[in-house]
Amino acid sequence: MEPVAAARPPVVDAPEPPRAFAGGEEQDRQRLSEVPLRGWPRPSRLAAGIATLRGAGPRLAEAASELGIGSLGDLLWHVPHGYRDRTELSEIADLRLGQEATLLAEVRSARVRPTRRRRLTIFEANVADSSGPTKAVWFNQPWLAEQLEQGTRVLLHGKLDKAGFKVDAHEVVRDGDEDAPTGLHTTGIVPVHPASARLRPQKIRDWEWQVQVLARDAIEPLPASLRVRNGLVAAGDALAAVHFPGELHQAETARERLAFEELFLHQAALASRRGRHDAARRARALDPPGDLTRGWVASLPFELTVDQRRAVEEIDADLATERPMQRLLMGEVGSGKTVCAVYAMLRAVESGHQAALMAPTETLAEQHFQTLERLLAGAGLPSAALLTGSSSTARRRDAVGHLANGQLELVVGTHALIEEDVEFARLALAVVDEQHRFGVRQRAALDAKGPGEAAPHALHMTATPIPRTLSLTAYGDLDVTALHELPAGRKPVKTWVVGEEKRAGAYEFIRERLREGRQAFVVCPLVSESDKLQARAATKEGQRLAKGEFRDFDVGVLHGQMRAADKQRAMARFVSGETDVLVATSVIEVGIDIPNASVMVIEEADRYGLSQLHQLRGRVGRGEHESHCILFADTEAEAATIRLEAISSERDGFKLAEVDLSLRGEGEILGTRQHGLPRFRVATLPEDSGALLRAREEVLGLVRRHGSLDVPELGPLMDAARLRFGDERAEPIAA
Ligand code: ADP
Ligand code: MG
Repeated sequence: MEPVAAARPPVVDAPEPPRAFAGGEEQDRQRLSEVPLRGWPRPSRLAAGIATLRGAGPRLAEAASELGIGSLGDLLWHVPHGYRDRTELSEIADLRLGQEATLLAEVRSARVRPTRRRRLTIFEANVADSSGPTKAVWFNQPWLAEQLEQGTRVLLHGKLDKAGFKVDAHEVVRDGDEDAPTGLHTTGIVPVHPASARLRPQKIRDWEWQVQVLARDAIEPLPASLRVRNGLVAAGDALAAVHFPGELHQAETARERLAFEELFLHQAALASRRGRHDAARRARALDPPGDLTRGWVASLPFELTVDQRRAVEEIDADLATERPMQRLLMGEVGSGKTVCAVYAMLRAVESGHQAALMAPTETLAEQHFQTLERLLAGAGLPSAALLTGSSSTARRRDAVGHLANGQLELVVGTHALIEEDVEFARLALAVVDEQHRFGVRQRAALDAKGPGEAAPHALHMTATPIPRTLSLTAYGDLDVTALHELPAGRKPVKTWVVGEEKRAGAYEFIRERLREGRQAFVVCPLVSESDKLQARAATKEGQRLAKGEFRDFDVGVLHGQMRAADKQRAMARFVSGETDVLVATSVIEVGIDIPNASVMVIEEADRYGLSQLHQLRGRVGRGEHESHCILFADTEAEAATIRLEAISSERDGFKLAEVDLSLRGEGEILGTRQHGLPRFRVATLPEDSGALLRAREEVLGLVRRHGSLDVPELGPLMDAARLRFGDERAEPIAA
């Protein structure tokens, strides 16, 4: 029998030369003459639909689109998530029990063997190669009888056990069959692509084989010099080799190249967006810090932390130029962001301008307002007004009037600030808290409140800390300052994960704290399907506790379905200490500051993500009292156990975010849509962090060299970036 060692056709029709180009080696005449003439790439071919493939009917095309595969180009970018190395063909005589192997054999005889069990059929074939015979076994595939007749040559992949050679993949070897390359599924390095129940890996592999010739039609968006510098293979070669590598290391080289391309194009799109934003409008360059702000910092009852001082310096540098500040201040609740924001606001006032702080909810706006009043209580400091949806008509008229004539220098508010009739005489600084909770339009509306043609400087704040590499993707168009260090005096919150058996004891523990005069939060389970259900659960739990475990105390309820006024009342009662226990849904996640609350219970904590748990826990431990967080959880699920262990042993939000990222992937951690974080097709974070940092450096290098990314030389690159990551012109900054 003839061996079919070379059954797999080579990956690309030209094995090596293009890669040598990418590697930047010098080419001699000989090598150049060996480069195949391929004609011009025709990227339009990649736009064709899946249905143009052999074996792709409408149903499978629909299944493909569920996997994000609509065009042949998408299919090329649908890269394997693993490979099976089946490069070695084994001889039957050498097989050992339990060993996986690929055989090339001929069918001698075959039959369906009846079994006692109705649902089970066994198909058996006596096969042989030149070294000897064996029995090949398939389960539940009686139709094979037609395919595997006597004399058929087959490639078999499987494992030898006592019953015979159990086949998990096989291919019939037909000479001269161009359409179905022999050995695609059983020999060589077999790629395994992400698949679904409706679209099996084998089918995808088959399609990939058909489209791989089109890899050469992929455009090369990366400038040649950049590819040489980073040792990146050409786009077309990478797209072919990632599916059908000659050797495993080629697959990894190809994957790295594709991941780099994605990250690079994304960074380019972000940088270009920021460039356009900067070029569109100038801001006011503010005078250097003067007596007002310096005196204010000196009058604070505490020293700024090192992180805060750095933030203040960076803000000062931003405000000194006409380039509109676009800085994100990232730090968990209590890390001292508001202090930095007030500093920036005072800088604006001091140089004769106005500043506004916008928060996503009334509760938060009120809290900021109180903080501001507290921080600005000293003599000679400006006063601020609060403007929200529930401001009285008279107050609103007053505030709006004074903003327009410039008498009012500081304002804190909600969306009410961006209503059309709110005008600022000279707004120079806009602070946006929890910036991701605002829509693109809302942030743009505040931006448009700047005087005349000038843009306000913008300081964004988020209490969701994320690792640096992720912030480069999520907020790559912003300058990011992270506040890691918590102000001195914050006590760690003792955190326990407990099961049901500890419930009675936990309630007794809480009652003791309540008797000492402290307050407690009870956070109800997360019901992701519906806010309504969650609200109902909170109400019920509130009633249960009020009649039961906490009947001697005052129990309040807070959830997202309550009317604004009721929410406010519930909050106010808890803040004033009238209510001892606040039963709430995760709406309390964001920024409320009640130093007397020293205990938090979280029900069904295993349902919450790590960052969310950390945010919730941040509600306690804000005063001088020792604080406790009790997590009721079902710890069966492994991922939940890791999360709960992390939350009970670690208090640094950035570190927890890293754990979260490695557990859930970047899409989950941020809520992809919400943060404008793209779904990468090849790149994953944090694994590709190194590539991300290099990509960012390269983009910054291009900006330095060309002054802007929107220059003709970079046309193909920016076209590709726009194609892949949307038209950045449509999306303003900080999406
Ligand atoms: P964030 O806005 O990040 O939640 P805040 O700026 O509101 O944090 O600060 C939280 C609390 O810590 C406030 O009561 C604030 O007065 C206090 N604080 C801020 N910075 C410091 C510091 N450097 N040292 C001590 N306390 C601080
Ligand atoms: Mg705050």
